[in-house]
Amino acid sequence: MNLFRKNIQRMEGYVPGEQPQEPGFIKLNTNENPYPPSPRVIAALKESASNLLRLYPDPLVTKLREKTAEVLGTRPERVLVGNGSDELLGIIARAFAGPGDKIVFPSPTYLLYKTLAEIQDAQTVEVDFPEDFSLPKDVVVKGARITFLCNPNSPSGTMVWPEEVSRLAREIDGVLVIDEAYVEFADTNCLSLTEEHPNVLILRTVSKSYSLAGLRLGLCIGQEGLIQGLLKVKDSYNVDRLSMAAGVAALDDQEHLKGNVEKIRQTRSYLTESLREMGFFVYPSQSNFVFFRTPNPQAAREIYLQLKAQKILIRYVEYKRFEDCLRVSVGTREEIDAFLDRLAEVGARGQGLGVRG
Ligand code: PMP
Repeated sequence: MNLFRKNIQRMEGYVPGEQPQEPGFIKLNTNENPYPPSPRVIAALKESASNLLRLYPDPLVTKLREKTAEVLGTRPERVLVGNGSDELLGIIARAFAGPGDKIVFPSPTYLLYKTLAEIQDAQTVEVDFPEDFSLPKDVVVKGARITFLCNPNSPSGTMVWPEEVSRLAREIDGVLVIDEAYVEFADTNCLSLTEEHPNVLILRTVSKSYSLAGLRLGLCIGQEGLIQGLLKVKDSYNVDRLSMAAGVAALDDQEHLKGNVEKIRQTRSYLTESLREMGFFVYPSQSNFVFFRTPNPQAAREIYLQLKAQKILIRYVEYKRFEDCLRVSVGTREEIDAFLDRLAEVGARGQGLGVRG
């Protein structure tokens, strides 16, 4: 006897990147930030660990909405706070798409979009990205309820520029969700599109650039009508007191953010150039990870496994048409040097992997 809805029975479920429980791994597989969060965050958490925890948190997360509005140059009414941007993606899917509705996204991209569509029993329309990860023309789909655009995209790290995204927002039916989880590492962003387009929602997170993946906090920005509607769908107390206090402190320390982002951008250039010198094709990254091609799918798998055996974790997913590609997060300079050294060793040992040692 299977008590689940048919669509839940059929789906596989999202599998997050590995989080090894034993110590000693260099973790370059889930795009976490290698640097610690702002000391102000730790102080705010300590201060909030008080008897007030017996009371429910503010359902509207007012202080963090206000801080977000201040930092991003918008109004609190245009901000929704979630328990990670993953929760916000779920709220959006529930709010806009039901059984049979079309949910569109260029592919390969963040795998959760598909899972959320399956939970809604919606119809998934996956449109292949071209080899260079420019925006595919046929991503404009008649009757789409939601179009997801991960920008910068994961796993490619590439970016579609705001003028093109603006054109897309005008052309599509339904809402355009621009997932900017990695945008602080990029040269530009699409935030201003929420001013011009009543169908655009922007998603941000503190998980990557603010080094706070261990808290769960995401931000959604859009015109007031959209935010009001989404408020009806969210849980009443979706953001706890500790997270709200920490989020305000994190956003308050823009100097800390900028310093870490700058270090990561520098290491990203170093990593990209080093991989190119070793003979790999590397996609230009606007993110805190780099996507590169190995000679063939077997080489990609072999490199992933051999590095893992030496306690260096990178991300290997067999994306259709990109089975020969690997994704590596930008860690500290030392972590990246360790990765590059091991990679060269794998190449020197395994003739035919196409890695020049
Ligand atoms: N969007 C993308 C593209 C991501 O890679 C991730 C992290 N896996 C998320 C959203 C979710 O981030 P959060 O930690 O805010 O839930």
